[in-house]
Amino acid sequence: MKNLMEEAKYSHETNLDEKTIEEVRDELTIRKENIINSLKALAVEDNHEADKLAAKFPEYGDKADENAQEVSDYSTNLGTEKVLEKALEDIEKTLKRIDDGDYGVCKYCKGPIAKKRLLARPVASSCINCKKELQDNV
Ligand SMILES: [Zn+2]
Repeated sequence: MKNLMEEAKYSHETNLDEKTIEEVRDELTIRKENIINSLKALAVEDNHEADKLAAKFPEYGDKADENAQEVSDYSTNLGTEKVLEKALEDIEKTLKRIDDGDYGVCKYCKGPIAKKRLLARPVASSCINCKKELQDNV
């Protein structure tokens, strides 16, 4: 009975029940911590960067091949850092939507995002139809 009531509470805006949303929140919180730890391992603090982090520049030595390796690894770090930062941003936005009670609502058509899609991609902020339309228009 309790579950039915909980579902009814959310059904006007999304087909997700409270328990699922809480599970998503827990999962995203864990992911967020993992990303922050990876970023810390990858980047050094830098107050000149907007996010206070800069990709680490590795020091292997002064030989030409060592220098080449440093530059190569630096760009890898830089690329990974950008990917992680983007993922972190998506997670933070999603956690905010959960707090605001907007989770599972498409940001374009305001319709519900299918539960199946959210379980596959918890940070999705648009329904599959709007996503398709956007991709077709690109
Ligand atoms: Zn939509």
